[in-house]
Amino acid sequence: MNNSAAERVVAYIGLGSNLANPVEQIQAARTAISQIAGVSELAFSSLYQSSPMGPQDQPDYVNAVISIETELPPIDLLRCLQGIENAQGRVRKAERWGARTLDLDVLIYGDQLIKLPDLIVPHTGLAERAFVLYPLYEIAPQLTVPGKGHIADLLKQCPMNELKRLD
Ligand code: ATP
Ligand code: CA
Ligand code: CA
Ligand code: CA
Repeated sequence: MNNSAAERVVAYIGLGSNLANPVEQIQAARTAISQIAGVSELAFSSLYQSSPMGPQDQPDYVNAVISIETELPPIDLLRCLQGIENAQGRVRKAERWGARTLDLDVLIYGDQLIKLPDLIVPHTGLAERAFVLYPLYEIAPQLTVPGKGHIADLLKQCPMNELKRLD
């Protein structure tokens, strides 16, 4: 099958940064994602500020969610996103949830439930994370998260707490 016949899927990606000018990191990542061959942007949320998960001795995060249309298989999409993380200076450390210039997570890929060694979709923890649910709801208020339910119901179970929408 050639490329023009590839199926196009709507996917959602979570963006996060808390080092080296997070707002610029998120904006640069948005541009880089839309420039991936076989990816086009559908919508981009507001930017949000969130308190760190895990280690507390690190700056607050800036988060956003982008929706895309893509013909890339999910694992290829993940590899492209990891390439963008690396290009923007992501350093992988042993510490879980430590500070980083850029984190790109595949939140949702069409209606698929994926359980590969390197890729679990919908993303683990999506339903418990305000910094994912609020921007996701902003761009997809009618969304059903595969295996988890309607976005509005997930939001009701998840207080905004420290999350702030930035202007
Ligand atoms: P969390 O996944 O809890 O948000 P994190 O983003 O800090 O934590 P990373 O260190 O960025 O975790 O990634 C660890 C591994 O997670 C990656 O090597 C990747 O293979 C795997 N992974 C599994 N599912 C996904 C997904 N849906 N999106 C991105 N990475 C994923
Ligand atoms: Ca593109
Ligand atoms: Ca993450
Ligand atoms: Ca990640």
